Amino acid sequence: MEYEPVIGLEVHAQLLTKSKMFCGCSTAFGAEPNTLTCPVCTGQPGSLPVVNRKAVEFAIRLGLATNCRIAPYSLFARKNYFYPDLPKGYQISMYEHPLAVDGFIEIINRGEKRRIRIIRIHMEEDAGKLKHGETPETAPFSYVDFNRTGVPLVEIVSGPDIRSPQEAGDYLRELRAILQYLEVSTGNMEEGNFRCDANVSVRRRGQKEFGTRTELKNMNSFRHVEKALEYEIRRQIAVLEEGDEVVQETRLWDADREITVSMRGKEEAHDYRYFPDPDLLPLHIDEAWIEEIRKGLPELPIEKRARFVREYGIPEYDAQILTSTKPLSVFFEKTAQLFPEPKTVSNWIMGDLLRELKKDEREVDQCPITPDHLAEMLGMIKEGTISGKIAKDVFEEMYRSGERPAKIVREKGWIQIVDEDEIAEAVQRVIDANPKQVEDFQKGKEKVFGFFVGEVMKVTKGKANPKLVNEWLRKKLMR
Ligand code: ADP
Ligand code: MG
Ligand code: ZN
Repeated sequence: MEYEPVIGLEVHAQLLTKSKMFCGCSTAFGAEPNTLTCPVCTGQPGSLPVVNRKAVEFAIRLGLATNCRIAPYSLFARKNYFYPDLPKGYQISMYEHPLAVDGFIEIINRGEKRRIRIIRIHMEEDAGKLKHGETPETAPFSYVDFNRTGVPLVEIVSGPDIRSPQEAGDYLRELRAILQYLEVSTGNMEEGNFRCDANVSVRRRGQKEFGTRTELKNMNSFRHVEKALEYEIRRQIAVLEEGDEVVQETRLWDADREITVSMRGKEEAHDYRYFPDPDLLPLHIDEAWIEEIRKGLPELPIEKRARFVREYGIPEYDAQILTSTKPLSVFFEKTAQLFPEPKTVSNWIMGDLLRELKKDEREVDQCPITPDHLAEMLGMIKEGTISGKIAKDVFEEMYRSGERPAKIVREKGWIQIVDEDEIAEAVQRVIDANPKQVEDFQKGKEKVFGFFVGEVMKVTKGKANPKLVNEWLRKKLMR
């Protein structure tokens, strides 16, 4: 039986404001616990919240960039629940009147453009952080840090339009890129600045109605979101195949065991008793402000992608990867301006550079190789100073040491051999050492030619100019 998954994602992203959502406390990360607090964000009686204008502006930017309609009237509401990291006993959020609605994000899945609807974007404040621990001297303890309490968030709710775990990953990457391009959020999932809950159900292919969904939490990387969804889809299909029904519930991803486990069912679902926050006035956002923000929007990933294809003539696939983060796109453009052969630049970035970065779990802005250095190295290959093969070593050395390629090549003596006598001599040596292969070649076994090229490269330590090696091998073997 063929099943189709249906997925909708809820993403929380932290906004990059200097101060919190409703008070003047700093949003700095990593400060001493409970040093960035005040009566407002710790919910002291008599204190009153004041809306952070910058946070609203950032949320509007995001709304516009995701093709949403900005509501002329939105309303903060109290979401009531008890938890030790929530000193007020409620979280200020939005409910019936979110800030932005009815947008979409376009993604490309296997060459096909897909639109994922954005149902709504609303603003809210973050809760604090609990820290659990135990030392040999103490009983198990829990501390609470209110520094994060009141930090501004946006929640972005997608339509149930996503059809595979991989597409969920694509959507998340695109959304994160948009946030980063707009400079309204770092989108860092590991630091918790970008959190995702995933709703998923399955239905028989061709069936119109959605199946019963579960909500997955606790994934802290894109890879985990994809894995959790894959697991959950398999689990739901198995339940249906058994003739049972999927239960609507919240499930936690267990990254160690790579399974989802039930956290709470519908019966235990919270009743948050939302109501308009009486301490805050409704937000009236006028057209003029929206237009001003719209005019200030930067080039977005989708636009940059199209421009890269148009201006640099690189394939759509390359453009997709090179625009996936803003720093990467900047790295590419800088290099391509210094060495105007964009496809060559793209190949090196997408291949060697990203591979090295991935290995070290580094972002491109922490890359020891600068666009300047990469362009210089590509110039050296082009001029024939180094061979393409040696360039791989130069590249590794550049990555390791952060040095200029010219210096590395000079110090290591890696300059390409273009001296014809030297190459002819190396070719002769290889021919003399391999009479059997010479015979094979002369009998018409063209494949052995590659063997000879490899041997010459070996004896010249990869420094021989490949074009000359080819020429001399032909000359000497063809007699
Ligand atoms: P709630 O307020 O209970 O979280 P929402 O209607 O806001 O419910 O939906 C939350 C998310 O769940 C949205 O991203 C939506 O697209 C998704 N969703 C809703 N129904 C389904 C379903 N049957 N299968 C998968 N996802 C769904
Ligand atoms: Mg929800
Ligand atoms: Zn405060």
